Amino acid sequence: MKEEPPMPNFSLPDDVFLRAADTFPTPFHLYDEAGIRSAIRDVKEAFAWAPAFREYFAVKALPNPRVLEIFRSENCGLDCSSLCELILAKRGGFSGKDIMFSANAMPPGEYTMAREMEAVINLDDLTDIETLLSHGGIPEEICLRFNPGGELKGGSAIMGQPGESKYGMTRPQLSQALGKLKALGVKRFGLHALLASNSIDREYYPTLARLLFTLGRDLSGEAGLPLSFINLSGGIGIPYRPEEKPNDIRAIGSAVKKVYEEVFGPVSPSGPAICTEMGRFMTGPYGWLVTRAVHEKKIYKDYIGVDACASCLMRPAMYGAYHHIHVVGKRDKAPDHIYDVTGALCENNDKFAWDRPLPEIAVGDLIVIHDTGAHGLAMGYQYNGRLRCAEVLLKADGEMRLIRRAETPEDYFSTLV
Ligand SMILES: *Cc1c(COP(=O)(O)O)cnc(C)c1O
Repeated sequence: MKEEPPMPNFSLPDDVFLRAADTFPTPFHLYDEAGIRSAIRDVKEAFAWAPAFREYFAVKALPNPRVLEIFRSENCGLDCSSLCELILAKRGGFSGKDIMFSANAMPPGEYTMAREMEAVINLDDLTDIETLLSHGGIPEEICLRFNPGGELKGGSAIMGQPGESKYGMTRPQLSQALGKLKALGVKRFGLHALLASNSIDREYYPTLARLLFTLGRDLSGEAGLPLSFINLSGGIGIPYRPEEKPNDIRAIGSAVKKVYEEVFGPVSPSGPAICTEMGRFMTGPYGWLVTRAVHEKKIYKDYIGVDACASCLMRPAMYGAYHHIHVVGKRDKAPDHIYDVTGALCENNDKFAWDRPLPEIAVGDLIVIHDTGAHGLAMGYQYNGRLRCAEVLLKADGEMRLIRRAETPEDYFSTLV
């Protein structure tokens, strides 16, 4: 069989990047509304079989109100886990069961706010029961976060290392928690786990689903409480590298359905609901960091300095993550130069690429860094007095709109006392 050529990373035509850079000063992240909407629809179709399916977009991936509006208009909820994310949700018109509040070493006051908003609480630890009791009280429906420990294996592949993860409760703790919660008035429960990150293994969701479905069924029988939903959370990955294949979310949805029927029998509207909290999969491929080459330096290696730095996109500096890069107007040119593409921080890890084959770059060229729509600007920081960049939304009708301005020195100094 012939090898399939590598899939190009999802991209917009170069004239879009040129038009954006003519309108807004670089650097900025450009997000594609049409792409985000298509991901939402794909996910909804993949899980259309499931009772009361809902995606709760993980706010931390792209916390911009104009983007959250897109999710609201598609009837998605939000997954929040901090005071500011709750405020974002509230201002965006999300309330009650539109919000999943994933606790983890929470400042107790944040429970109070989540309870006031009637968000669904996803309890991370046994001790959180007491905290919740004294900060807003115990709701009738609650979600519990599970940590199976050890390694998550599917076939021979290791998909995650839950034993190393700070989240969730052990199996015996879940039983204990449910007993306590029932005595405190809980009427039904959901179950949640996030055991992998950026998984492009199509077995991840089905494997997790089997674990949570059987555990939910068993716990429900044990505690005498109905299981109202299973929260498969996030972790579904995207192809950052051109040779990686995108996840087929429809095939994943069908595989989860098969497991559902094995555990719960034929799907019925009264069966446990399914929800997801995808972040990366929903917005990751539909964002690009648009930056300009401002400097070239040749010493022991060739360096291209750009006007963005890790303050706008930290993943490469933080985890050595690969982000695809192309040079506007030079997509068809041979990648016959080897560059490190760097920002201006006084930190040698401030690079967007190491030893990357690219066409010859001239100062002034527009450089597009791909797949920055999730965990991109949101992870930015101000180290070295470098400020976070702007965000632009390419709307479905073609209009380009500034949805976050770049930070200014006034912002940088605004917190000083
Ligand atoms: C980060 C996170 C997600 C989203 O993860 P992705 O890998 O972006 O899909 C979902 N739920 C919780 C609780 C998270 O912390």
